[in-house]
Amino acid sequence: MKNCLLKIENISYTYVHTGWKLDSISLSINTGDFVGIVGPNGSGKSTLLKIAAGILPPVSGRVHLEGKHIRKIPRKKLAQSMGYLPQQINPVFDFNVEEVISMGRFCHSKGMGLITQEDRQIVADCMQATETFSLRNRSITELSGGERQRVMLASVLAQQPGIMLLDEPMTGLDMHHQVAFFKLLSQFAAKGMAVVVITHDLNLASQFCDKVLLLNKGRKEIFDSVEKVFGRIEQLEIYSKDLSIFKHPLNQKPAVLPYNSESEKGIENDKIN
Ligand code: ADP
Ligand code: MG
Repeated sequence: MKNCLLKIENISYTYVHTGWKLDSISLSINTGDFVGIVGPNGSGKSTLLKIAAGILPPVSGRVHLEGKHIRKIPRKKLAQSMGYLPQQINPVFDFNVEEVISMGRFCHSKGMGLITQEDRQIVADCMQATETFSLRNRSITELSGGERQRVMLASVLAQQPGIMLLDEPMTGLDMHHQVAFFKLLSQFAAKGMAVVVITHDLNLASQFCDKVLLLNKGRKEIFDSVEKVFGRIEQLEIYSKDLSIFKHPLNQKPAVLPYNSESEKGIENDKIN
């Protein structure tokens, strides 16, 4: 049976300088859920995730992790239960990849914070899973954007949290690593971890996520199956008129393709000529 891990109740937030509002959002994330968060730029995805991670205090509403008020959980204890990967990571210190991933184990350290043999094994497993083993001696400051994203995911995985909140972790990943990344996340979800991922890749969300939250202008438009969410995107033309929604030929899940409506004019002109 699935248990409720993260309960977000009537969260609202306002950025005072601009007056932009996140408007009364509620949702529950259960063990084993693989949830995608989608929505246009500026719809409030990162703000919601920061509140869910206990980083931003909401103006009103509550976030409970395993029944406890998130802002009352000590940071080290919170890191044992929740992994959070922010949208922007700008490493300033010259740590190597293995050191960065090992930092994920600090929340479990006792006393002096020394790395144990068990920690080393977990770090090695996380490097294998994220295909970062060959990068282990490289400086984090000298990696490509996509390589760095994989290292940061490995570091969050090394925390062995019950829930992961990931803000656009796919930025800079090539197609192979995008699919590998989502496969890996769904394997963790199958083992009971709750995974919440902000992504602009609707096709990957469709293929892998159990449920999708669509945010629009700071509001929860819909939190439902991928089929229902794609239906709403099409109905409200959330992104653009120039999108075509299909069923994937192999598993019938919704898939979206951009459509160049200008190209029709080209075809018409060809016919005339
Ligand atoms: P998303 O992640 O969906 O692109 P964000 O949650 O980052 O959206 O931002 C939502 C809105 O809040 C945007 O209009 C953005 O410009 C604004 N915003 C984000 N961070 C701040 C901030 N620190 N101060 C003022 N406005 C902000
Ligand atoms: Mg964002």
